[in-house]
Amino acid sequence: MARQLDPTTRDALIERVRFYRDLGLTEFYRRPVDPALVAAEAMQGEQEGQLPAEPPAAGEPDLASEPRENAKRPALFADIQPANSFQEPPIPARKTFPAPPEIAAAIPPAERQAALRVIREEMGDCTRCELHKGRHELVFGDGDAAARLMFVGEGPGADEDAQGLPFVGRAGQLLNNMITAMGLKREEVYIANVVKCRPPGNRTPAPEEANTCSPFLFRQIDAVRPEVLVALGATAATYLLGARQPLAGLRGRVHSFRGSRLIVTYHPAYLLRDPRQKKEAWADLQIAMRELGLKAPGRS
Ligand code: SF4
Repeated sequence: MARQLDPTTRDALIERVRFYRDLGLTEFYRRPVDPALVAAEAMQGEQEGQLPAEPPAAGEPDLASEPRENAKRPALFADIQPANSFQEPPIPARKTFPAPPEIAAAIPPAERQAALRVIREEMGDCTRCELHKGRHELVFGDGDAAARLMFVGEGPGADEDAQGLPFVGRAGQLLNNMITAMGLKREEVYIANVVKCRPPGNRTPAPEEANTCSPFLFRQIDAVRPEVLVALGATAATYLLGARQPLAGLRGRVHSFRGSRLIVTYHPAYLLRDPRQKKEAWADLQIAMRELGLKAPGRS
């Protein structure tokens, strides 16, 4: 049976995993628990509870001074292998990404809003993956259907789930500031996520969920046909590029994706946790600006 973590440890663990995820370390393997170690731990706990508080009376065995490894093992554990004979099973091979849909023909700018509406209507009250069970609002996307610049995030959080719009919480505020620093308004860009429904507890979308939902994102990208796409964080970069790589290896250069130029940078939520990386994110956004021929406001 799975061991329950106390809430403080669990929250600290979630925060740490999020931090690694933002760095692009997205795959974690949980070692199967060695039953011999669990048994030894349980036995140690039992013995600690039973050790006499006072020195033993004359003639009684001194259990406290007896080395643990010499303590008699209960019959219950007699058939459990010693710890050093435990064999870890091999780590399973990574799942391959499904092939993305073919790139659709470019749509005239005036028809892009209608094309996005068609995609939204096709999604309907989507139940294609497990994420529909916990959502309040499906968060399709927001912004100018004919935008030159499009941002792609991971998935909605609590604020987005409540309002049905992407990037409206604290991370959204920071994204707005980033857009303003680029000399643009939020209404001039298009914003969407890999998954349109909030993963419970803001966890990373499971591959099945992301792979089920991302074809709609690809179609949104085809409809908007931005000159430049900015992937916000490792999950967006992974599902756009179809490969898991650390963020460090993807940042700082221009990728090609479905007819657009793609820049990879940190997710604003990560920048809220580690503001020291804002300088790096700004360097990434400057690559996007260069590709778009933009100059930061106040600079000639
Ligand atoms: S995450 Fe995407 S595929 Fe899953 S239920 Fe929501 S809209 Fe449908």
